[in-house]
Order: sequence, then structure tokens, then C-alpha cells
Amino acid sequence: MNNDQLWQAVLGEIELSLSKANFTTWFKNTFINSTEDNKVVICVPNTFTKAWLEKKYHEQIAKALNNVSEQEIKEIIYKVETKKPSNTENLLNSVKRVEKETENSQDVPETKSNEPLIINQFGLNSKYTFENFIVGKGNELAHAACQAVASNPGKAYNPLFIYGGVGLGKTHLLQAIGHEIGKRTNKVMYVTCEKFTNDYIQSVKSGQAKTFKEKYRNADLLLIDDIQFMAGKDGTQEEFFHTFNELHQTDKQIIITSDRPPKSIPALEKRLISRFEWGMITDVVQPDIETRVAILDSKCREKNYSLDSDVLYFVANNVQNNIRELEGALNRLIAFHEFNNTTPTIDSVKGILNNLITSAKSKSLTSKNIIEAVSEYFDIDSKDIIGKSRKKELVYPRQITMFLMRQESNTSYPTIGQELGGRDHTTAMHAFNKIQKEKKENEKIDQDIESIKQKLKSIC
Ligand code: ADP
Ligand code: MG
Repeated sequence: MNNDQLWQAVLGEIELSLSKANFTTWFKNTFINSTEDNKVVICVPNTFTKAWLEKKYHEQIAKALNNVSEQEIKEIIYKVETKKPSNTENLLNSVKRVEKETENSQDVPETKSNEPLIINQFGLNSKYTFENFIVGKGNELAHAACQAVASNPGKAYNPLFIYGGVGLGKTHLLQAIGHEIGKRTNKVMYVTCEKFTNDYIQSVKSGQAKTFKEKYRNADLLLIDDIQFMAGKDGTQEEFFHTFNELHQTDKQIIITSDRPPKSIPALEKRLISRFEWGMITDVVQPDIETRVAILDSKCREKNYSLDSDVLYFVANNVQNNIRELEGALNRLIAFHEFNNTTPTIDSVKGILNNLITSAKSKSLTSKNIIEAVSEYFDIDSKDIIGKSRKKELVYPRQITMFLMRQESNTSYPTIGQELGGRDHTTAMHAFNKIQKEKKENEKIDQDIESIKQKLKSIC
């Protein structure tokens, strides 16, 4: 087996356990350039991919290599290097491409930024699938919960409640579950909270309340998007409560999204909040840089547009708030350059994305910054914040650290737990809620937090 065949076999194994989007993003343009003395050198196109493979996929790669290879692999080295295809290969590739294009020209639609949305019979956007969803820090817990629910509806977690800020993929995940379960039943109901409310009001006005009830209570899967808009609408809440009970009792899956956790939705009835807490509550937070790169790369492929990798990293590095903005930035730059018939460069992109680019000043804080600031403020060793001791004088600073990691740098709960000595995400969640509540009642806590924030400001 030569190096190429070996790598093809390894990729074949890895592909089985990853979504198509993740697989292509991280394994495209990778190859093995040597296998000697039980050592394999894997070449990757850039440092992001290198870091990502080392961090996330190393074990999987090692396992697959050892399954497939004739020799035992003891060491794997990742190296940034691009393959320069030989002339014959180049020629072969371009011939293949032409053949492919003519073959598929009729059934493959042009996918450009202005393509129309395709909505299926359940009102789901055809692009919001698991296949097109990039998993990374910030959404991995939510993604795992959604997959569990999609393969085991009504059993895994019921209800599933997903919350987080705008443009972070809640609707995408919700609809991805709809697509999956929709393959097995045609009783999938996807509605925005607004549509549910309007439907309810209309049904009451027109004396069709029974039809309304039947429609929703007959569902095998009920997806309600942006439930926060039900706040203060008592009649709708009452109706939803009964729909919920009916579906839940018969093990029908319910999934809800919101821009905040159930407890923080004002004027939401207590009994509804407690229903939501029966199942699983999970959040989505801002994506980190690797995830942003992967998402941009995948959107470029969806749109059949190629961006130089330095331009791609520039955009991913600078548009940080959410994925909707990232997509908006990409659409904008594609439209501009297609119109002017030019190729995007860092300079041309800088001009177009001016207002989206997050200034270097507000660069996000790292967990290390926060841990250091807290330990300095309380005059303790930063190792003790991460450590296991449950001494009172350490528990409080640790909880403050968790609170700040969440509030100031939007770190996900699992990551906070991991970075503070491998604790469970529920510990981080508990600490955040506790400090948030107590700082309202206890001025000392509020002052501690403000002083540490001042310290942090001087760092960034
Ligand atoms: P929300 O409902 O949280 O406001 P959306 O689900 O509407 O956000 O996501 C905004 C846009 O970003 C959508 O076009 C969606 O496809 C895209 N998007 C969000 N998260 C991801 C992801 N992890 N991978 C790929 N695309 C994503
Ligand atoms: Mg949404």
C-alpha cells in the first residue's frame, strides 16, 4: 500500500463518523508524505487545520491508521504543507472537472448568494440540515442533544430546550431535527411562536378552537421557535400548556428555542417554566475562531465560491459576533466582487466589511486572563482556582471566575468546566446562576466583580 492508498483508507474510516461538512472542512487537501520507522507525517494546508486535527481528531486518526496500516504507527506528525500536483495530475483533474460539469449541468442548480430558499412540506428550510451544520466549541453540547433527540424522539430528552443569542444556529438545529424525524413521519409541526400565537387567536375569533387543538395535538414532533415571544400572552400560554401536556404524555417530542433560559423569560407562567425543566436545557454561544473558519469554508463550498485562505481567515478573525453576520459578510463580499468582476483581497474585503469588523480593542478575553485577574485580586494562587480544594476561601473566587468567563467572554459551560480542572458543566452553570443572583442582594459581591472587571479592562 502506498501513502496515498493508506490515507484514502484512513479517510474512508474517519468519514463514517463525521458530518460531511466537518469532514470536508478538516480533511480536504490533507495527505501523507512519509511513513517511515513507525512514524507518519500528515500534511495539512494551514495552521488552523493542523491545530484542529491535533486537538480534536488525533485519536481517531491514530486509531484508523493503526487499523489500516501494515506497520504499527507509534508517532504522528502534522505538518503544514500543500501538495503541488504534477502536470499530469493537473491535466487529469481539469479533464475530470469538465466531464463532471457537463454531466451534472442539468440537475445541479447554480448555488450563488441570491439563490431562492427551498422550503419543504413542513415549512423547513432545505439548507438547515445536520449535514450543513458545523460543530465546534459553543454548539457541541446543543448539537449532541439534538442528534440524540433526532434518533430517539420522545425518549432521549423531552422537551429539549435550546437557548442563546441571535444568529447562533438555534433555528438551524431545530429544523435539522425536523428534517431527520420528517423522514419517518409526516406529522412534523414547525412553527415560530408568533405563528402559534396568531393561529391560536384566529381560531378563537373564528370559533375554530377545536381544529386548532387537533392540529397541534396530533403532531408527532412539535418544534416551537423563539418561545420568548409568548411572554405575557396568557391565553396562548394556557393553550400551549395543554398542548404540551397532551403531547408529552404520549411521548411525542417537543423542542423549543429561545433567546434566553426559561427562568429568565419575563411573564412566563411558572408551570410552563417547570415543564421546560423536565427535559434538557442547553445553550449555544458564540463560535470560536476554528469554528468560524470551518463555517465560512463550508458556506463558500455551498455557494461554489472560492476564497483565498488568507482572506477567509481575515473574515473569520474579524467578524466574531455570530454566524448570521458571518454569512452576511460572505454574501456581501461575493456580491461586490462578482459585480465588479474582481477577486477578493484583504484590502478590498476590509473596505466592504467595515462596519462588521470587530475592533481589535474589544478582542475577547481569554480564560487565562480571567483566572489570573481573579487570583491576583483575591491574592491566591491561580493553581488553587483550578484545583480540587473545597475550602471556602477558594470556592468563592472559583465561582467568580466561572461567572466572569461566562459573562465577559461568553465561554460555554462545558468549556468553563473543562478549563477549571475538568469540572462538570452543571457546576459552571450552578456557579453562574448563584453569583448572578447573589450579586443583586450582596453589594460586596458586586464590588468584587466590578473591581476584577476593571483589572481586565486594563489588559485588553
Ligand atoms: P438563530 O436561530 O440562533 O438566530 P439561525 O439558526 O437562524 O440562528 O442561524 C443563522 C445563520 O447561520 C443560518 O443561515 C444558519 O444556517 C447559519 N448557522 C448557524 N450555525 C451554524 C453552524 N454551526 N454551521 C453552519 N451554519 C450555521
Ligand atoms: Mg432563530
